[in-house]
Amino acid sequence: MLYQLSYDPSDRPPVSLTLTVGGITDRGHADAGVAGHRDAECTGRTSPGSNWLDVVWNDGPMSPTDAPSVPARNLPRVSTRVGSIAESATLAVDAKAKAMKAAGRPVIGFGAGEPDFPTPDYIVEAAVAACREPKWHRYTPAGGLPELKDAVVAKTQRDSGFSVGANQVLITNGGKQALYNAFAATLDPGDEVLLPAPYWTTYPESIRLAGGVPVEVMTDESSGYRASIADLEAAVTPRTKMLVFVSPSNPTGAVYPPDEVRAIGEWAAAQGLWVVTDEIYEHLVYGGAVFSSMPVLVPELADRCIVVNGVAKTYAMTGWRVGWMLGPADVVKAATNLQSHATSNVANVSQVAALAAVSGDLSAVAMMRAAFDRRRKLIVSMLNEIPGVSCPEPEGAFYAYPSVKGVLGKEIRGQRPTSSSELAGLMLDEAEVAVVQGEAFGTPGYLRLSYALGDDDLVEGVTRIGKLFAEAQ
Ligand code: PMP
Repeated sequence: MLYQLSYDPSDRPPVSLTLTVGGITDRGHADAGVAGHRDAECTGRTSPGSNWLDVVWNDGPMSPTDAPSVPARNLPRVSTRVGSIAESATLAVDAKAKAMKAAGRPVIGFGAGEPDFPTPDYIVEAAVAACREPKWHRYTPAGGLPELKDAVVAKTQRDSGFSVGANQVLITNGGKQALYNAFAATLDPGDEVLLPAPYWTTYPESIRLAGGVPVEVMTDESSGYRASIADLEAAVTPRTKMLVFVSPSNPTGAVYPPDEVRAIGEWAAAQGLWVVTDEIYEHLVYGGAVFSSMPVLVPELADRCIVVNGVAKTYAMTGWRVGWMLGPADVVKAATNLQSHATSNVANVSQVAALAAVSGDLSAVAMMRAAFDRRRKLIVSMLNEIPGVSCPEPEGAFYAYPSVKGVLGKEIRGQRPTSSSELAGLMLDEAEVAVVQGEAFGTPGYLRLSYALGDDDLVEGVTRIGKLFAEAQ
């Protein structure tokens, strides 16, 4: 351990010590032995409430230069790479709301992106049986159970029409790890990644962790939060390696129509770019919107395309942590090597549950989709009735992304929030409603509200928001 010990020779027992350990200074007392004599032993404390550190004290009054010391190297304790990563704002809001609820406050949470339905029974039963099967108590292949890979191949063909082999599948710890692996396996330091904004909060951090440079491509409600080829064209440079594409989108619920998906895919192919396309909300589209898979519409892109997906949103399985990436075999192999050192196989019980999910039919998601569609219409109409709030109708996923610019700068309950972040804080404290600030998605001035919560809570929560904002002046 690096430490420095300083000592005041005029002290008589009990002798006070000043210890500086890792930049933390504290004073303690020699509580054993007699200072100033050979081999007396002292005990010093490193920091309040932390470890005790035994120090052997040499004979005679000690000058600071006699102190046992190791040169301080002034190196950061937390690596610069990880130290620059912000906490996931969506998880932070959700954790705060859940903690307030646990403390008895009637908080309504629009923060978390998770269906309020339980995982369907047949999936849970498969997992219960797997728990009792000793073979699932052991390590299995790092890249995923072969039977689950085969089922993902079949499910992908069924749902999006994309044909892949089992050697193009990596089963991951949720869609999040699929993204992390995809970026880590393809990006070198300095590679630029086009990222349409508003973007899901994890993308830029995951890109940065891989050494990549996220390049925001701004969109707003005037284009339905969809990026055009002209927008992308304006952001591309010789360093651009990749485009991140997500439709339906988190946080806006935007769905790109098939002709736009094709045009963007063809543009990316012509530019020689890679595309990471996130299809996790493929089954949650409403009204006339249709989901389409980019490598299906643009087959020439398939050799530089990585598809991310998982069971979380389709089967109400956020807590089970199973996702996957599909891609060219060489990239999937590299990502599997990475995962073999990082996490090994995803928990077998969860993989068996995911196997039951993707092998079954889509009736559970059809039921959830009908409920989300009802809530979508309700939340949008209620939000648009609030002065200062303007919310385009989302066509997919389960998020509304209203602008609250008309409320910012006004006084509410003695406060004058000037950012959506301050407004979200005020809403949680004053109305006990949890929402995520637009800053987390690269676009201040907006809020994200997940409508994957119960109908009654939804009405109560938006009513509270309306009452609070009505006080704005
Ligand atoms: N992609 C998008 C766009 C998401 O919204 C989420 C979850 N919020 C994920 C991926 C990851 O989901 P999970 O890790 O739970 O599978």
